[in-house]
Amino acid sequence: MENKRNTEQKRVILSALMNADHPTASELYEIIRRNNPHLSRATVFRVLGQFADDGTVRRLNLTGSDTRFDARTAPHAHCHCDVCGKIFDVFEGPFAPVLQISDVEGFRVSSAQIEFTGVCPECQTKLN
Ligand SMILES: [Zn+2]
Ligand SMILES: [Zn+2]
Repeated sequence: MENKRNTEQKRVILSALMNADHPTASELYEIIRRNNPHLSRATVFRVLGQFADDGTVRRLNLTGSDTRFDARTAPHAHCHCDVCGKIFDVFEGPFAPVLQISDVEGFRVSSAQIEFTGVCPECQTKLN
């Protein structure tokens, strides 16, 4: 029974993360809580940590922000809007080969992050 419950909790947490926009653990907990009031904050934090450690999800440490979580594990960069704070996934671009590098001067790369900060198209429209 315990295992079945754990599996169900993991499924709920992962699907919430897939539908959220790079949330912090606290933000994700607030989202999950609405439909799953029985899931504790400690459980959400613990399961997220396990997912990040086993590679199911990625931890993101973006400028001026608590650790965020990303359900998209394929290599991609992030554009972080200074105005609205939204984070956009970008998979294609001249930076893409950098995310594929596995060796830097003998250093075996396990992960790389590219973050572009600036103003998103929507906020540019509002500013003009
Ligand atoms: Zn924006
Ligand atoms: Zn992402």
